[in-house]
Amino acid sequence: MASDPQIDELAAARRLLVALDFDGVMAPLVDDPSTSRITPAGAAALERLRALPATWVAFVSGRPLGELARLTESGPDALLVGSHGVEVSIRGELADVALTDDERARMARLEAALTELVTAVPRARLEHKPVGFGVHTRRVEHTELVAPLQRAAREAADSIGGFTTRAGKDIVEFSVRAVTKGDGVRMLRELLTAEENAPTTVLYAGDDVTDEDAFAVLEPGDLGVKVGEGETAATARVADVAAFAELLSRLATAREASARSL
Ligand SMILES: [Mg+2]
Repeated sequence: MASDPQIDELAAARRLLVALDFDGVMAPLVDDPSTSRITPAGAAALERLRALPATWVAFVSGRPLGELARLTESGPDALLVGSHGVEVSIRGELADVALTDDERARMARLEAALTELVTAVPRARLEHKPVGFGVHTRRVEHTELVAPLQRAAREAADSIGGFTTRAGKDIVEFSVRAVTKGDGVRMLRELLTAEENAPTTVLYAGDDVTDEDAFAVLEPGDLGVKVGEGETAATARVADVAAFAELLSRLATAREASARSL
């Protein structure tokens, strides 16, 4: 659990970026990922944070940007990083993700290989992403088939070459662009710091292996919060989505108090 001194220090930051993974952090993991939603407690805390001066909320997710915008019910002012740092939307302005001919050709080869592999395993699912694919195994009932499927998928990507592979919860992902959530967090910080020529403190929260790239780019004075079990470079940990919403609510309360005293 993040201690109150850690929360108080964040709350007092001159400029604060609250950068959040979506699944498993703001929204509980569910069998059908299209139905994921931010919990009411989490949404209420975010609303309070967004209303504060010199405070920004961003989402940094492995999900494609469009889907992330829809699920987070983001408005035109949103700061969104999708596809693990590949797709970025800053207040409605999109960063370009146009694929080269070579990238497109390698994507097509991998798509064919993965489609064949996934079709052979009941209830496995192939997700098409803007710059890659996700092999989902959360709903696979014959769990002994998961490891061989993941291994074969990795071998297919390795033999084509040029793919970055990420293992997450019940998913292996392949991306034809080698960027990470860490690149996304760094970019958001640089953008906000440049806007007002003042350093920005970051709170980052994540629950999965790919969030470790984001924890790794945090600096002294920032706070990384790991949600749930597992090894992590984050310096604070909470048990689950509900506990993290509570942390955000405490942060909002503390920052509201420090905003009043300015
Ligand atoms: Mg997550």
